[in-house]
Amino acid sequence: MVKVSVTGGKGGTGKSLVAVNLAVELSALGSRTVLADLDVECPNDHLLLGVELEKKREVRIFKPEFDYSKCTKCGACQRSCEESAIFLVEGYPFLLPNLCSGCRTCLISCEASAISDGGKVVGHTYETEARDDLTLVTGKLIEGEEKAYPVVVGAKDRALSLTSDVLVVDTSPGSGNHVAFSIEGSDVAVVVTEPTPMGVHDLEITLDLLEVLDVQPIVVLNRSNIGNFRPDEKLKERGLRIFSEIPYSKRVLDSYVSGTPIVEFDKNDKFSVEISKIAEVIFNWK
Ligand code: SF4
Ligand code: SF4
Repeated sequence: MVKVSVTGGKGGTGKSLVAVNLAVELSALGSRTVLADLDVECPNDHLLLGVELEKKREVRIFKPEFDYSKCTKCGACQRSCEESAIFLVEGYPFLLPNLCSGCRTCLISCEASAISDGGKVVGHTYETEARDDLTLVTGKLIEGEEKAYPVVVGAKDRALSLTSDVLVVDTSPGSGNHVAFSIEGSDVAVVVTEPTPMGVHDLEITLDLLEVLDVQPIVVLNRSNIGNFRPDEKLKERGLRIFSEIPYSKRVLDSYVSGTPIVEFDKNDKFSVEISKIAEVIFNWK
């Protein structure tokens, strides 16, 4: 299985658009493709594909539940909690759920067996047959929840458990822990940026991360005609170059509104042509 991440430091560069169209194009080339939408706070690949999410599964994390009839008021759970998620009232422990990471340290520390797993649902994963040879796996964090990481892990595991020739991972923007986890293990990363100061700044951070993760980048300059702040010199310093330039096109907007990926909507649009070029590289990846 070839693993491709589609990522980019800055939000709104068209990362999901590239990921979805790349996955559709790879499946059209005959590769059994799984697309993992790991932008769990705002997953939208299903909207771009024009499909409804299916096969919902819960993502749970550990949540301590205290049995006060067994509790000896020793305070060990409170002292063991690095997140300060437990406070004591007259010796009895109480939980601040939003601070709890679900690490289970308090469970281990309790010699009176007064703590059990109250289990908390923080999100869901979905598995949707989006096209003949394309399965979409989506991670979705419950609104108001802050623990994105377990949902990213759950969705990536579900995607990896499926049989495929290619896994395309659509990461969330940025370069934090869950973006690094999403990219980890990839053979190649398609880095989507734009010709603006912020775009170039964030591109450099993403390239640094890829260097640490030992993942080869393919740089895509999206909306290449909207600004003059190009990353060519910065890339040259790293021995890299822009692989693909995609100018802004009204046809992409039309395809977006219609809920049809541009590679299906208009094969001759520049966006589709450039996606085909990237898909060929991935298709022939050894
Ligand atoms: S570690 Fe167990 S026994 Fe001690 S205070 Fe916490 S719940 Fe009670
Ligand atoms: S699971 Fe971890 S973070 Fe949550 S209360 Fe227990 S020790 Fe603290």
